Parts: sequence; C-alpha cells; structure tokens
Amino acid sequence: MKTHRKLWTLETMRGSRALLVGMVVPLVLGACAQDETERSADPGLDGRAGASTTVAQIDDARIENAADEPGTWLAYGRDFREQRFAPLTQINRESVSDLGLEFVVDVPTAGALEATPLVVDGRIYFTSTYSVVYAVDATSGETLWVYDPQIPKDFNRRACCGPINRGVAVYEGMVYVGTLDGRLVALNAETGAEVWNVNTVIDQERNYSITGAPRVARGKVFIGNGGAEFGVRGYVTAYDAFSGEQVWRFFTVPGDPSLPFEHPEMELAAETWKGGEWWEVGGGGTVWNSIVYDPEFNHLYLGVGNGAPWVRVIRSPGGGDNLFLTSIVAVDADTGEMKWYYQTVPGDNWDYTAVQDMTLADMRVDGEDRKVIMQAPKNGFFYVIDRSNGELLRAHPYSQVTWASHVDMETGRPVENTQLDYFDRPQWILPGPLGGHDWQAMAFDEAKGVVYIPTQDIAGFYSVDAEFKETGVFKRNPGTLNLGTDMRNGFSLVADYLDEQPMYKGNLIAFDPLSGETIWSVEHPFYWNGGVLATAGDLVFQGDALGFFSAYDADTGEKLWSHNNFVAMLAPPVTYEVDGTQYVAILAGGSGRITNFFGSMDEVATMKFGNFGRLYVYALGGDVVLQQPQIVDRSIPEPPELTATEAELKVGEQNYSMLCVGCHGGGAASSGVLPDLRLLSPERHAIFDQIVVDGALAATGMPGFADVLSRDEAEYVRQWIISRAIADRAAIQDD
Ligand code: CA
Repeated sequence: MKTHRKLWTLETMRGSRALLVGMVVPLVLGACAQDETERSADPGLDGRAGASTTVAQIDDARIENAADEPGTWLAYGRDFREQRFAPLTQINRESVSDLGLEFVVDVPTAGALEATPLVVDGRIYFTSTYSVVYAVDATSGETLWVYDPQIPKDFNRRACCGPINRGVAVYEGMVYVGTLDGRLVALNAETGAEVWNVNTVIDQERNYSITGAPRVARGKVFIGNGGAEFGVRGYVTAYDAFSGEQVWRFFTVPGDPSLPFEHPEMELAAETWKGGEWWEVGGGGTVWNSIVYDPEFNHLYLGVGNGAPWVRVIRSPGGGDNLFLTSIVAVDADTGEMKWYYQTVPGDNWDYTAVQDMTLADMRVDGEDRKVIMQAPKNGFFYVIDRSNGELLRAHPYSQVTWASHVDMETGRPVENTQLDYFDRPQWILPGPLGGHDWQAMAFDEAKGVVYIPTQDIAGFYSVDAEFKETGVFKRNPGTLNLGTDMRNGFSLVADYLDEQPMYKGNLIAFDPLSGETIWSVEHPFYWNGGVLATAGDLVFQGDALGFFSAYDADTGEKLWSHNNFVAMLAPPVTYEVDGTQYVAILAGGSGRITNFFGSMDEVATMKFGNFGRLYVYALGGDVVLQQPQIVDRSIPEPPELTATEAELKVGEQNYSMLCVGCHGGGAASSGVLPDLRLLSPERHAIFDQIVVDGALAATGMPGFADVLSRDEAEYVRQWIISRAIADRAAIQDD
C-alpha cells in the first residue's frame, strides 16, 4: 500500500528557529520559578529521602520488562506498551466457570470509580473520587493507608464529568496522583505520606482539572489536564520524579499571538489558527487521558483533545487545521521537543478528541516489520501509525461513522461529509461527543493481532449557538461550558428532530487493526459500559452498566461467565498473581454525568439500585455472596404548585440546560447517580434558592451558582423542574 507520511520534524525548521529557542528559555525558567512557590517540599531536598525503600521499587527496566513478572500490574496499561494484556493463564476458558468473589473493599463515594488499580509487592494502589488514594492488601483487601488531598467538594463544578480520577503511577518507592484541583502529588508508597506537591495550573482563573493518571519514566513524571469545555489551553508538563521540579512543558495549542511563542512548535501551530480570538476562549487541546512512553525511541506520545469551543467557525473563522488539536504528538521524553505529529481531525468541529488510550506494538504490516502505535479515538477510525516517524499505516472505521466517508491514505486526511454541516440546520452525527470509543480502555492481544474495544454508536445532536449565529459574537462564560453549540435551547430544539435520531448502541468488539474487520461483536443492553482486559487464558473481561462483570471467549465473543455486582462499571479490570493464586480486580461505581446527558433506562444499575463505590476482587473458588441491594423507588411525588408564566419557564429551561443538565439530567430526569429533581421533597423546594444560589449544600458536592444565576432565575429553574415533574407524572399515569 502506498502511504503518505503526514510528518513534520523539528529538524526541518531548526535552523531558522535557533534564535527563537534561545529567546524562549528565560520564559520557561520564569514559569518554573512561579511553580516553585506552590511547592510544599524543600526544592533543594533530594526527594528520594521521602520515598519508601522497601516497597514499590519500580524503575524503567522493571516496567519495560514486565513480561518477566506476569503477576504484577506495574503501570496504567500494565507496562510501557499499555496493551492491557496479562500473560496469566490460571483463569482460562475451562476454569473460568469456577471464578468467584474473593473479597470486596467498600469505597465511600457515590461517584464514578474509573481508576486502573496498580498491583505490586502484594499491594493494590487505586484512586477514588476527589483524587483520594488507597493502598490495600492484594490478598485480603485490608486497607494499609488512605491519602486524601482534601479537594473542596464543590470543586466538581469545575470538572465536566464529575470528580473522577483514573489512577496513580508507582515508581521508585513513590505513588503519584494528579488531583482534581490541578496538583501533582508524590506519596511514600509504604506509608502514604506526602513527599512533594506541585501546582501544575498556569492560570488559576481558568477551570483546569486533572482526572488522568500520571505516567512515569526516565526519572520524570508526566501529567496533562482537562477543562477544554470550560475554556482552557492544553499542555503537558514533565516533573523530576524525586524533587518535583519542572523539567519541561509542551503546549498543545498556541496562546495569545501578541506574546512570544513558548517553544518553536507553537510557531508552526499558530499558522494553522486563522482569525477569531481562540486564546480568549482557550483553544482546548487538553491532554486529559493518554500519555504513553516508548523506551525504544525515548518518545513520549501525547493524546491531544478537542477544540474549545467545539464549533470551528467560532474558534478559527479563517479555517486552518488548528494544530495540535485531536493529534497524537510524539515528543522527546527528556526535552519535550516534538519529533512528529499526526492529526486525526484537522479543524475539529465535533469534540473529537485523540486522548483515548494508545497502545504500542510490533507488527508485520504489508510485509514489513513495523513498530506501531494504535488508537481508537472518538472519531470512529482506528489508527495504526509507525511510531518511529508518524507514518499513517491504517485508518479503518471501528464504529458507525457519518461525519467523514473515509480517511484518504494519500494525504492522511479524513474526507468530511459536507451534507452534515450543522451551521444552518441541526444534525445528528456519528460518532457524537462520547465518541465511537472513549476513555474506557481497550486491550490488545499481540499474538492474535486482535484488539478488544468497548465501542458505542451514539449520535450527537449538533447545532450552533443561536446568539452567535445572530450576532457573530461568542463570549467565554467562565462559569460554565463553552461549546459553541446551542446548549441553551437544546432540550426544546431536539424535540423537533427526534424522528431522525439514530439508535443508541453499546458494544464490545474484537477488531483486526490491519484489515479493519470486526471479528466478533457483543451488543450490550445499554450504550455506556466499562473498559477491557485481555489475558493469555483466552479471556476478555468487561463490566457493564447493568452491574454485570463478565468474561468472554477471546476468539468467539461467547459469554463464558458473569457475576452480578449490582453496580455499574466503567473502570477497566486488571489481573495479578500472589502466592500462586491469580486474581481479577475491578473498581465499580457508575457515572451520572454522561448518562444524564444522553438518557438512561430502568435496568441500568444506577437507576435500579442507586450508586456506590467498591473494589471487587475475584479468584477461582472465591465464595463471597453479595446481597441484592434494595430497589430504589423512583416514582414522582405530587409536585408543588406551578406559578411561572411561559416566558419564565423558557428562561428556567435555558438556565437548566446550561448549568444543571450535566449532573441532574436532560429534561430533569436523572440517571440515578445524582438527585432526580422531579422527586425533590417539599423541604428541599422550600430552600431551593439557598441550595442553588447560595451553595447551602456545597459541602456535599452541590455548588452554589451565585456568579451566574439570580434568585429570580433560580426560581424559574425550579418552576421548570415542576413543569417537567407534572408532564412526566401525567405521561406515566397515561401508560
Ligand atoms: Ca471534550
């Protein structure tokens, strides 16, 4: 196959930029000095002094050679390659029917648990909501220590998708966690004591947050951030693993053009942003999930997110590719200098991030041995790229795709479907903002050459902000999401297009990355399910939204075993071995934010049983029996009196759609994780403004909105909720 290399190397522009590099240095050092004021540890101290000398003695060689210790799970995707494939075989096709629950660890949260547990030296390290870190015994579940960074509970208003966290990194006797409020913290792996703590946020006025797991290699910790929808500018920073000092920082999108470029790659990027004031809104491009280290080339691969705002004519009205949005960027792990990039969606218009997990492998492609990086980003195409130089090798669709017909392998660019332009008329487009695949991890069996992907076909309803269409002006709102789509009127607008809406589906697929063939596919009852683990026992493990944790035959997709945990699962399972026993572990606890936006169903565990946090650990012969929790009564009580005018209800609906919908659900119907406001008690109705405006329940995680909502507007929101309760009560009684 003839392929075109979409490739740019620093070497091609180094000569002309040499002077610029020199000019940039003082700026970068300035940023370092500022960070140091936030440090809790003495920067002169060798951080090793605080690290454990007895447990978690993990170095680069150990992570690189993880195949030599099949019983551990040393890093986010098990090792540097992040294949999430475990070479353990005690639990296999034949024995899996004897798999049972060995122990359970209760994790006190009602939020989503999304972390990958790391397992080393008989200890499991994982995170809960609000970036709380746990160390527990890997054979009994006994808690060894808990670290709580004390994030104010109402900080969750500054994070799009709940106070979630996807896990820790463990290295040289330390445990590293990125906190929801943007700090990076190093802990003693034995005691949980804080060793150092740096603030990674460059602008405290903007809603930066960290939910992703840090990665470690080469004596450094690498961390990105989230917040694109709130109007931030993305970047990744490398810190010295021992002292916490900043080593380098790579911005993913250009900043204010009146200021100097922070590093030479920003000059290249700035040429692809045209008109508009993207730096005012932020630009986006946050690296909120995937960062992968490649010891073979000393590359660090950054998975870069979507543009902010989503709508490209607002962000960059003169066109342009808007580098490095939705790109995989390879940088030198020691210096942060770019080596190559591949952009999956030039001029992103749909919230198509390329932050989904990336997997490294060796593969024979068209008769040649290649070292590849693979990703199934949100946009629905599965990419196989030569990781030595960024050459595109494959880009087959893995889910339903309507935004583009295909990827042109000559140019490496997608061919957009212009009929689905949504400026003049709203459109249902596949994939939607949840992607054909999101952060829920995939797994790759290198021997079989098969990737197992949790996919979904969920169309997005895209329409352009009505005020922008009328005035041509888009103002960043620091208090809420800045999508550029018509969130304000979305609920009533979508009602006119429901007959065009494609079905929502969730799947687990076995996919051949080279041929693009789907080898088998299992359709789930609900669209939003958990990450995946593959093992040498020819099994694929996955948890689902209905509360079942299941094992599938890796070759056929046949469900061989299933266990009802009575709680929704999103996190990827892991497996490990201690004293000759193989265990499988998964964190459980579902997300309200996503399912609230896109609707729920009665059989989903969060609806049926509510939501709670747990670590479930299984082994052959495990015999712990779970009691079924009580089924939650979700009937709507007689609502209070509706007194608002039609015009006031409209204002209530618009504010609800901007500020409340993400947690409490479309049409005020919750998915069961956070309160369903149609069910509010008379006592809560009586103090509604104190809760919503003044923040009376801030300590429980319900923030106040005094900065964006007047007392009258809050009352209109309450009235609109009452109108929804009346309508839905009548509809249920009609059935
Ligand atoms: Ca996004």
